[in-house]
Amino acid sequence: MDKSEFIWMDGVFTPWDDAKVHVLTHTLHYGNGAIEGTKAYKTEDGRCAIFKLNEHTQRLLNSSKMTLMDVPFTLDELNKAQVELLQKNKLFDGAYIRPLVYLGYGVMGLYHKECPVQVSVSAWKWGAYLGEEGLKKGVRVKISSFTRTPNTSGMGKAKAVANYLNSQMAKYEAVEAGYDEALLRDDQGFIAEASGACFFIVRDGVLISPPSDNTLESITQATVIDLAKDMGIEVVRRRITRDEVYIADEAFFTGTAAEVTPIREVDARIIGCGSRGAMTEKLQTAYFDAVAGRNPKYIKHLTYVN
Ligand code: PMP
Repeated sequence: MDKSEFIWMDGVFTPWDDAKVHVLTHTLHYGNGAIEGTKAYKTEDGRCAIFKLNEHTQRLLNSSKMTLMDVPFTLDELNKAQVELLQKNKLFDGAYIRPLVYLGYGVMGLYHKECPVQVSVSAWKWGAYLGEEGLKKGVRVKISSFTRTPNTSGMGKAKAVANYLNSQMAKYEAVEAGYDEALLRDDQGFIAEASGACFFIVRDGVLISPPSDNTLESITQATVIDLAKDMGIEVVRRRITRDEVYIADEAFFTGTAAEVTPIREVDARIIGCGSRGAMTEKLQTAYFDAVAGRNPKYIKHLTYVN
């Protein structure tokens, strides 16, 4: 991993190697924490900007509210911390930003009301999540034997640390089986999302993505839907079954880290042309234009850091 100089810890810019916690940190034991994954890009005019910063920080606060953590910083303070962190680390060529809300040291046992709620923000250079090659040629996907945790026992709309045990198991299983990524179904058997990204298919020129019934409310999914509508593409949010995925004309993932990653194969079925499909390519280009300030309509989503 590409180290940076500083990590923001509860308001203090701390040298990277000193950004440590006690082994009795509550979150380490019981798994209640919330994260974000936010990205900054070098833009058209040479400056660096964070894409949809406000949406990401708001989701961090929402996730923390859902998981009963009272964050001791405001939205504005957390936004400012992320901007200043990139400035302090001189990350002007783009960066991945990882805010974390966690329960600190001082209380053991499950009841966490008296536990201190702490926040860190880290940022570093991170390349394409599913590889540069994946962005061009597409990735190979396995439908997971794990389902998303049902809504009766989990909170899939929280970007909760605890939810990533399920994602981690699914990802590991897929990679060990020779695939790049896992696609998880909900407990009814309908396609939900990948281990860390949302899912789209294209059929007969229509762009289809599952409803957010058992997924994270994805910021990239919303951006891609807006971009598609701008292009006059028909967009439908509806349930998708496993067999329909196999006969899709195109399929792709969206996520802040995954960006727009084409899918070329699912469970040994070749999807469409077996490479990046035409609509996927159009939307991928549009996405990179939006985050890099090349689309005037989306400039309002950029927070410049220099
Ligand atoms: N689902 C999961 C489980 C994720 O971890 C992510 C990545 N944050 C996404 C979907 C995509 O969300 P976003 O577009 O907001 O990054």
